[in-house]
Amino acid sequence: MSYFRPAVQSMSGYVPGTQPLDNQYIKLNTNENPYPPAPAVVKALRRLGGDKLRKYPDPSALQFRNPAAQMLGVQPDMIIAGNGSDDLLTIITRSFAGPGELIAYPWPTYSLYPVLAQIQEAQIVTVPFPDDFSLPQQLAEVPAKIIFVSNPNSPTGTLIGVEQLDQLAGKIKGVLVIDEAYVDFARDNCLKLVHKHPNVIVLRTLSKSYSLAGLRFGFALADPGLITGMSKIKDSYNCNAVAIELATVAIQQQEYLLKTLAKIRRGRKYLTSQLTRLGFTVLPSEANFIWATIQTASGRQIYETLKHNGILVRYFDQQLDGLRITVGKDTENRQLIQQLKRILEKPKP
Ligand code: PMP
Repeated sequence: MSYFRPAVQSMSGYVPGTQPLDNQYIKLNTNENPYPPAPAVVKALRRLGGDKLRKYPDPSALQFRNPAAQMLGVQPDMIIAGNGSDDLLTIITRSFAGPGELIAYPWPTYSLYPVLAQIQEAQIVTVPFPDDFSLPQQLAEVPAKIIFVSNPNSPTGTLIGVEQLDQLAGKIKGVLVIDEAYVDFARDNCLKLVHKHPNVIVLRTLSKSYSLAGLRFGFALADPGLITGMSKIKDSYNCNAVAIELATVAIQQQEYLLKTLAKIRRGRKYLTSQLTRLGFTVLPSEANFIWATIQTASGRQIYETLKHNGILVRYFDQQLDGLRITVGKDTENRQLIQQLKRILEKPKP
């Protein structure tokens, strides 16, 4: 006997990467930014007083949406804010897909999508990526209410071209959600598609490029009609007062953002070349992490040995057997490579 709905009883739930309570690890497992948030954000945090906490926050986070809209060249009514972009993914799933309706996405991708679909009792259609991780053409044929495309994709780090997603949006009847959690690290983005297609939603987050994963703040950009509908689904106060205040400061620190991005891109280049020299197959990454597989050793074993030696990366075993490695600070990246050299040089028993 279970008190739960059958759909909840039978699902496994999302498993986030480990967040150890001590600070003993070099943490390259959850795509956090190794650099601190902009100094102006930390200053604003210190300035916050009790009165901010006494009152409810602005339900629509207009304080953030105004400067964000100006910066991104959209109207404020084309933006909805959320408690991280995960909150917006939940809002989207609840807004557009009912029980039995189809939700589709290329696979492998962000493992929260299936969980949200299961909660909603929607039917999942996964379309495998081709070997080059371009957009699977069959996706356009699925009569889905929602198509999720993580771009850059996680865990592969690969990027699909804007033209391909432009065409997909024009062909389908449902909404196309382009999850751009990692897009600031990439060479292109799909923002312009929200002006062209009434069914495109672009998702952004401050968790990665703005070094604010702990703040929990993300936003979606789309046609005002979609934003109005999605606003009916969200919790009234889905963004807390501290998050709105600091996100507003963060989004205006573009110079700092660019500096951080340059450092991460340099680290990404270093890791890509070093891992390749060590015998890993590394996909071209447009994100702040790298997907690496190796024929001559067990991915799981490498993951375990790294962990034993104080370095956390993310291991994926669902038909993949590979490591997703977040780009860290230069010293962290070097330590990772040194450890990997030692592990791979060890004679096998
Ligand atoms: N989309 C993708 C593809 C992600 O990897 C993540 C991070 N786990 C998110 C969305 C959610 O990020 P957040 O809720 O921190 O904005």
